[in-house]
Amino acid sequence: MRIIEKVSEMQQQADAWRREGKRIALVPTMGYLHRGHLTLMQKARNHADIVVMSVFVNPIQFGPGEDFERYPRDMERDVRLAKEVGVDVAFSPSATDMYPEGYQTHIEVTEVTRPLCGKSRPGHFQGVTTVVGKLFHIVKPHTAIFGEKDFQQLVAIRRMVKDLNMDIEILGHPIVREEDGLAMSSRNVYLNSEQRKNALRLSQSLREAQTLVRQGERNSAAVLARVRNILEAGKDMRIDYAEMRHPETLQEASQIEGPVLLALAVFVGATRLIDNRVLNASA
Ligand code: AMP
Repeated sequence: MRIIEKVSEMQQQADAWRREGKRIALVPTMGYLHRGHLTLMQKARNHADIVVMSVFVNPIQFGPGEDFERYPRDMERDVRLAKEVGVDVAFSPSATDMYPEGYQTHIEVTEVTRPLCGKSRPGHFQGVTTVVGKLFHIVKPHTAIFGEKDFQQLVAIRRMVKDLNMDIEILGHPIVREEDGLAMSSRNVYLNSEQRKNALRLSQSLREAQTLVRQGERNSAAVLARVRNILEAGKDMRIDYAEMRHPETLQEASQIEGPVLLALAVFVGATRLIDNRVLNASA
């Protein structure tokens, strides 16, 4: 596996692959890989001749006071793990190569980025869509894979690709979980053992919500009340949001008719975790 650090070198390599008629898949990450990331890479392997993973902790998607500086990093380990699942190139640019002196251009997707994480993390999605747009211009993929763990991010990227006529196939992949249900996340390393136990309340509450819906509950407020109960019973837990939204438009859904996204963001101690589930009346 090759490691490329320079934007210009990555672009030249992508051009060469394209001239040879190779299909390129990109899996963007912030590194500190876990099985969730690796599953996306395996999926990429099945959809392309060349798999590129990017590893870039993107400064412009973190707000002031967030965890940019302390975000976990271990490039050596990431390279080893990615190699095992057949990644061809790890693209790991520096922040100054991505955002040189005088940088002032951003991509903004408006409506779908306003609620949920967009509300609690102003500027976050502008940072995400900008860096993903840049990565698309640098790696020139035919397809790119994103996890449903960051559901709103996936919706925003699909919107951007459509609105800006980017000729790239976007594939989503279901949330990969630990055996006990916790959604895998690089940020899980921040949790101590008690917090790790409490964090299970997120996936528990999502399962409980699906059960209520299966039993016939159609009122979002009623389901959310139960979800909040479960979350708030955990020590040192604070709900940032727990909301029901239409999975495509992300508009509020007061009734559960057809698939409805239940999206959660919860602080467990100082660590903000997200999780979600698409609830279905017929599931
Ligand atoms: P990150 O490194 O957290 O920016 O994530 C990189 C990509 O991996 C994003 O598309 C995430 O949605 C995806 N991802 C992260 N955690 C998971 C997970 N537990 N299951 C599926 N995809 C995930």
